[in-house]
Amino acid sequence: MVGAGKEGRKDETAELARRRGFIWQAFEIYGGAAGFYDYGPLGALLKRRVEGKWRDFYRREGFYEIETTTIAPRDIFESSGHLESFTDPTVMCKSCKSVSRVDENVNVDVKCPECGGELEASGELNLMFQTRIGVTKGEGDEQAAKKSEGYLRPETAQGIFINFQRLLKFNRDKLPLGIIQIGKAYRNEISPRQSLIRLREFTLAEVELFVDPAEKNNHPRFEEVKDRKLRIVPSDGEAEEKSVEEAVSRGIIANEYLGYHIARVDEFLESIGLPRAKLHFRQHRQDEMAHYATDCWDAEFLSDRYGWMEIVGVADRGDYDLSAHASSLNVDMRVHTESGKVVPHVIEPSFGIDRIIYALLESAFYEEQVGKEKRKVLQFKSEIAPIQAAVFPLLNRDELKSKAREVFQKLRDASFFVEYDNSGSIGKRYRRQDEIGTPYCITIDYETLEDDTVTVRKRDTMKQVRVPIAEIKEVLV
Ligand SMILES: [Zn+2]
Repeated sequence: MVGAGKEGRKDETAELARRRGFIWQAFEIYGGAAGFYDYGPLGALLKRRVEGKWRDFYRREGFYEIETTTIAPRDIFESSGHLESFTDPTVMCKSCKSVSRVDENVNVDVKCPECGGELEASGELNLMFQTRIGVTKGEGDEQAAKKSEGYLRPETAQGIFINFQRLLKFNRDKLPLGIIQIGKAYRNEISPRQSLIRLREFTLAEVELFVDPAEKNNHPRFEEVKDRKLRIVPSDGEAEEKSVEEAVSRGIIANEYLGYHIARVDEFLESIGLPRAKLHFRQHRQDEMAHYATDCWDAEFLSDRYGWMEIVGVADRGDYDLSAHASSLNVDMRVHTESGKVVPHVIEPSFGIDRIIYALLESAFYEEQVGKEKRKVLQFKSEIAPIQAAVFPLLNRDELKSKAREVFQKLRDASFFVEYDNSGSIGKRYRRQDEIGTPYCITIDYETLEDDTVTVRKRDTMKQVRVPIAEIKEVLV
């Protein structure tokens, strides 16, 4: 395998993703807008497959999925603390007036990234998109205006918290109660300059697990994960490799439930094909923790282009959210448990699906020299590859084409996503499929017409095997 070097590689990935229909700048023909991207046909397929794997993963934990609205009235975010605390510090340029978000590279000590002018602190900016729900009658009626104020959700979690009482009843008043949700969320990022990493509209896949606080160190399936080795970076220490059990028993990870779910997140990321050597879990420092969290670990992916970047956050939200809604509504969110009446705590693994897609594209891509040609490959695991197989007639002859069409249709009818291609040389057709990550190419030749066998060529090894048509399906899964 020949790596193309850091610079070459990063441009190649982005260029390929655009050219082959994975990801496009949104509103491109109108000049685009920072922080918005569209998924093309192959990108959408890849995303659905990752989401499908994710649903299946948490189905095995016994969690139910719900779907709540993406717009909510002001009250919800007033109670949840987002109106007050979901903000970023900003600086403004004294000459060109452009506003930037303060981060490790931008602060009042550096020059304006746009024009080189002097920067000054310009306060905290809320990141939620505001909207109006319905029509407000009468200008200047502040009460009415406030009532119609709505926001696009910055996380899917609140939709779950505010339905807690109904969900608990659905679960026959029992804890633990695990609920999942996949959907769009919105953050009006101040300076989104990094493609899929900082988006204004993005997809979150979130788990909210309600547990009895007295049971947090007693996860019934902890045995299954306890020996899993994790690369962890504690907030006050160096990166180290530790088993989940050791990290929990030494109090580095706050409790068994949190440890269990960090291990499961690690397992999921490995199952979709992210290389473990490029993953670690970093604990938040007290000063970077979200307003609702008591302990938080980010699964970070080491990107060639962006360095370590967060792809999943696993937080212990304590009883913050339920207590916040309970006190502003004056309702009781407590649950009867063996330890008495308690407000459940929430363990929350929150997956940034778009960032995971970016990490998959970047880590799956490689180039190698094959003879005189450069072969570009997206080495996706077959379960997440957008196209599962391609079917080719060896030559452009009617008898081969009709047999190839027949095999193609048979696979489609069996729920596979397959492509048919009879244009150009067979080598060219292989290269095309390698580039979009298709794991198998099936070729129909004259032997097929005699004995109903085909050649199946594997993307990674380029090796070909002869397979009876009746057994193709077993090879593909
Ligand atoms: Zn400026």
